[in-house]
Amino acid sequence: MSKLDDIVSLSKRRGFIFPGSDVYGGFAGTWDFGPLGVLLKKKIMDSWWTFFVENREDMYGIDAAILMNPKTWEASGHTATFADPLVECKECKSRFRADKIADGINESVSTEEFLSLHVKCPVCGKENWGPIRKFNMMFSTHVGAVLPDDDSELMEKNVAYLRPETAQGIFVNYKNVVDTFYPSLPFGLAQQGKAFRNEISPRDFILRDRECSQMEIEYFVHPNDWEDNFEKMRALFHEFLEKEMGLKTEAIHELEVPAEDRAHYSKRTIDFMFDYPNGTEELMGLAYRTDFDLSNIARESGKSMEYRDKITGESFVPHVIEPSIGVERLFLAVLSNAYVEDEINGEKRVVLKLPENLAPYRFCVSPLLKNKPELVEKAQEVYKILRAKYGNVTWDDSGNIGKRYRKQDEIGTPKCVVIDFDTLEDGTVTVRDRDTTEQIRVKPEEL
Ligand SMILES: [Zn+2]
Repeated sequence: MSKLDDIVSLSKRRGFIFPGSDVYGGFAGTWDFGPLGVLLKKKIMDSWWTFFVENREDMYGIDAAILMNPKTWEASGHTATFADPLVECKECKSRFRADKIADGINESVSTEEFLSLHVKCPVCGKENWGPIRKFNMMFSTHVGAVLPDDDSELMEKNVAYLRPETAQGIFVNYKNVVDTFYPSLPFGLAQQGKAFRNEISPRDFILRDRECSQMEIEYFVHPNDWEDNFEKMRALFHEFLEKEMGLKTEAIHELEVPAEDRAHYSKRTIDFMFDYPNGTEELMGLAYRTDFDLSNIARESGKSMEYRDKITGESFVPHVIEPSIGVERLFLAVLSNAYVEDEINGEKRVVLKLPENLAPYRFCVSPLLKNKPELVEKAQEVYKILRAKYGNVTWDDSGNIGKRYRKQDEIGTPKCVVIDFDTLEDGTVTVRDRDTTEQIRVKPEEL
């Protein structure tokens, strides 16, 4: 088993992540977060929000609708260009993203170029390809009372898309915020929410799924200041990933994205790559989007997106620095960064060395024996105190103490608190450390 398989297995076994619609045999490209997954995911998202929004004066949060006026996607270029090169094997009818089954080509690969590489079908091994076709990754639906047998004009008129990125929900609210809060430049609008991409072949666990959560900031700046602000964001994200998420510095690599690989709107992009168990993959992107989006909106809506400087009186369309991070990608980075197999007293152990601020539970409280009422009663007392103080505290009185430790190690609980017979004598409890497995005795109020 690869390390990724181990993580997938642990995720399911301990209730972090289950395959989507598992009971019906799953649904490709979807995953469900279980009780512990929700706790970890929420901590990751809250930590981002605190770091980038609550602790700053220059950030405003928004939460826009997932369904947006389709003009949004015309203006942003998604209707025309948000497409992957789809190729079909004529032998077995399997469909693939051409640039994912051949080396050295990108999304704009032509049929001739692809055929010249003599790629064999990953499913049947033959080489008999149809032409490359552009496949738009937006999920479309129809809004309002539209029936399948309605004429195509009505269908067309009522088409809507599940948003393929959260960014546009921010851009369409830029003017609303400027007109109600009068922020000074530079300022940012931040949003967390779902985005949908109809990936041709979802894979690599939650790395490439069809439904994901994004955390995005559009940071509006004076056009002359973009480089300075780009550098500030770059440094801030390193700080966030390393200090708040606990990711190892050496596992994060910056990739300066060359012009031909950049999204159509970007003048400069740095991808933050992470060493995932199955290889180095994109963790997040930092893009300089210029005034591409606001200018498109101005053109498409007929409304001015100009910002008027309060001091100089200068009017201009702000430029944008966009740090964009996928929650699931970050979740998997945090999980694989924390996943360790070690040996304690000659016995193999799996442990999630999650940072304390992210661990689903901070403490696990248990009585040494569950059939001794005096121990259980005292343990309940300690449990209630810690729970009132920290919130995320769990109770475990199942199996023997060794089994409980094993379980808490696997879900990343930093400290296990055990109430034993000495507790009844001197009031101290045993506190066992997840990483070192060392045990000390302290008074519960010192925790
Ligand atoms: Zn085939």
